[in-house]
This record gives sequence, C-alpha cells and structure tokens, in this order.
Amino acid sequence: MRKKIVAGNWKMNKTADEGLALVSEVVNMVNAEVTGDVTVVLCPPALYLTTYKPYLTGNKLALGAQNCHEKASGAYTGEISAPMLKSIGVDYVILGHSERRQYFGETNAQLAEKVNSALENGLTPIFCCGESLEMRENGDYLGFVKAQITESLFHLTDEQITKVVIAYEPIWAIGTGLTATSAQAQDMHFELRQHLAGQYGDAVAQEISILYGGSANAQNAAELFAQPDVDGGLIGGASLKSRDFVTVVKARA
Ligand code: PEP
Repeated sequence: MRKKIVAGNWKMNKTADEGLALVSEVVNMVNAEVTGDVTVVLCPPALYLTTYKPYLTGNKLALGAQNCHEKASGAYTGEISAPMLKSIGVDYVILGHSERRQYFGETNAQLAEKVNSALENGLTPIFCCGESLEMRENGDYLGFVKAQITESLFHLTDEQITKVVIAYEPIWAIGTGLTATSAQAQDMHFELRQHLAGQYGDAVAQEISILYGGSANAQNAAELFAQPDVDGGLIGGASLKSRDFVTVVKARA
C-alpha cells in the first residue's frame, strides 16, 4: 500500500510566533480529529525547524524542509545541508519546487545531486515536477515532466526510488487558484507512474507515492484525492490556515 501524505509548504511565510500558533493548532486538530492513515508533513521556513520539532507530537506528524544544498558541508554561505537537517530531526525535504527552479536556477542535474544527498542522509525527498501554462497549451507537457523525472531520478536504484515521494505540481496551478481538474491530475499521475514502471517495473512504480500540488484546498481536495493515482497533496496557500489545512488532511485520511 502506498503511503498517503499531505505536506504543507509554508514557503517564506509567518513570523516565529505566527508559525508556532499555526503548528500548535494543526497538531491539536490532527491529533484530535484525524483517525485515518495519513502522514502530515509540515514544511516551515528552515529557521523555525528546530523550534517547532518538539511540538510535532503524535504518530502522524513529520517535519520537512523546503530545500537543501547538494553538498554535505563547506564554503556555501547561507546554505543548509541534508546532514544538518537530519541532525535536528527533519524527516522530509522538498526538492525542485518550481519557485526554486525559476528564481534560483535549479536544474535537473543539480536536483539529482540534491536527491542523492537527501537519501544518503536518511531524508525523504519530495521531488517536485510540473509544466508551465505554455507547455500545457502547446501540448509538450508530458515529455517535459517525464524528462524532469528521468534526469533527476532515474539514476537511483529500485530501493532508492521507493524512498522518493514525487509531487506533480503544474506551474499554472501553483498559487493561482487554477486547480488542475481531478481528471487532469489523474491522467498525469497515471502517466508518470507508467513512466516509472518503464524504468523500474510495475511493482516498484506501484509503491511510489505521487502527490498533487497546485491550488489544492479544503473545497477540492476530496475530489482530487479520490483519484486512484493521487496519493496525497503538497499544499501551499491552504497550509497557512489551520482549519483549511486539516480539512485537506482529513480528505486524504
Ligand atoms: C506549492 O507551492 O507547492 C503549492 C502547491 O502552492 P498552492 O497550494 O498555493 O498552489
């Protein structure tokens, strides 16, 4: 059975106190209201990870970072490495978010190195992929997203790839209010799983959780998560409000 995951990507939002209030509310609601089998990953800004870690009580909650450097240590001012994240109890790391690809120039080759570093240090990468609106409209999107996966993940062994979580996030849906329809999400997730099966075989592909991200919210999550290849969500805006986020979690539980 594939792992069901709902991850909240706070991006660069919330002061320390605002964040702590949000963490406390989410933890209380998840522990009181969520009975099903779902892993909830909170990904606040890196600055707050150590502070928030002790608040993540219960067996459903995990801590994630939004990025890591590909090297373990060294002269990379301002950066944070996978061993550092592991050393403070972080479990997951988002890699290759479209904002990091767009604003920080992250490439598929660099992301392959980041994925390696995360796995070597016992972190679960949440590897993001997805196409622009232009690609969606001119029909090139499937090849583009498959290439993102091929170039950043297909060097991994069978054992390693089953430790990776993939997040399909069409760029045109991120933060825009334009969600992919449940049929569009299912079509892509199915195609991406077929792509994984082509490289690793069907049994391995069936083990890999593929999350949907892009304006998923309390209103549309249940329909998205009802699709057979949508194993959960990577949630941006709706993860900043406790009730909205926990409603999304409950739609997956
Ligand atoms: C994201 O940034 O990963 C995301 C899915 O954002 P939003 O939910 O706000 O579209």
